Amino acid sequence: MGRRRRFPAEALVFLAIWPWLATAGDAGRLDSRLSGGGPVTVRLSPFAKPREIPKTLDGMRRLTGDDFLCVERGDCLVAGDLGPGEYEYLVDGVLDYCSAALRRVFFNRDSGAGKKVSIFVFRDYASYEAGLRRFIGMEPISPYGHYGHLQKYIVINYETGPGTLVHELIHSLMSEDFPEAPIWIAEGLASLYEQCRAEGDVLKGDDNWRLPELKEALANGSLVSLSRLLAMSPADFRDNRESLNYAEARYFCKYLEEMGALPRIYQDFRRRPEKDPAGILFVANTLGKPFEAIEADWRRWLRFQYWRE
Ligand SMILES: [Zn+2]
Repeated sequence: MGRRRRFPAEALVFLAIWPWLATAGDAGRLDSRLSGGGPVTVRLSPFAKPREIPKTLDGMRRLTGDDFLCVERGDCLVAGDLGPGEYEYLVDGVLDYCSAALRRVFFNRDSGAGKKVSIFVFRDYASYEAGLRRFIGMEPISPYGHYGHLQKYIVINYETGPGTLVHELIHSLMSEDFPEAPIWIAEGLASLYEQCRAEGDVLKGDDNWRLPELKEALANGSLVSLSRLLAMSPADFRDNRESLNYAEARYFCKYLEEMGALPRIYQDFRRRPEKDPAGILFVANTLGKPFEAIEADWRRWLRFQYWRE
């Protein structure tokens, strides 16, 4: 199934193949498939001083100029230099559909924030690099994109696919809806839907490239326990096992989704995070069994998962 199919004109559509991630914090490592080697650390220039991001359509037009098409969709302002067909797919398909589906299921608390999210979509890496310098005032910190929490903006290199937009969109929605969310559920959900399909009016996560690393760690006994993963601080999560931690969080969220438990866990957790900041209690209560039994079941389920590029 093509990765740029129209959405939602078809009843069942795969969103995209692409990886992944990258909020500014995500962006420490590059995947070897794109970097052509092992993980690379990219750091924000210490001289970088992000510019003020426009929060009106006119402001976006003035900033980006004639090469960028600017539209407003709900609380999103989108500027992109894609061709008209791809732009329409990304804005009227992916953004519109995924935003509605994610709000319906997860991010439905009325935060009252109402601040616009400014989204910059660049057709390829050269445009992305130049655009980040001109519009944001920084060097790329990831080859894919990132979400800027303070000014509420998203930048994506569209070469990495529409899944990158969905990943960053989830960070933007969750930052209003559940700002206390621990990193396992923030990155687990964002990574789950970076590759997804539409089923009726909801999204379902599909298998993706993160699985082989996870299964290898499961096989060689190097996987950390779920209880340890859920208790990780952002710094722990992003240590030298970062990509494995993303994979484990993604596939734990996928398991919870398949159990029909993910929305309820998210919403119970969001309502009362002070009861258990790691969320272990909410997972155990929703699934109705001790967390050790959940971990054992998840590991059995994981052995059955399969993905081929
Ligand atoms: Zn992320």
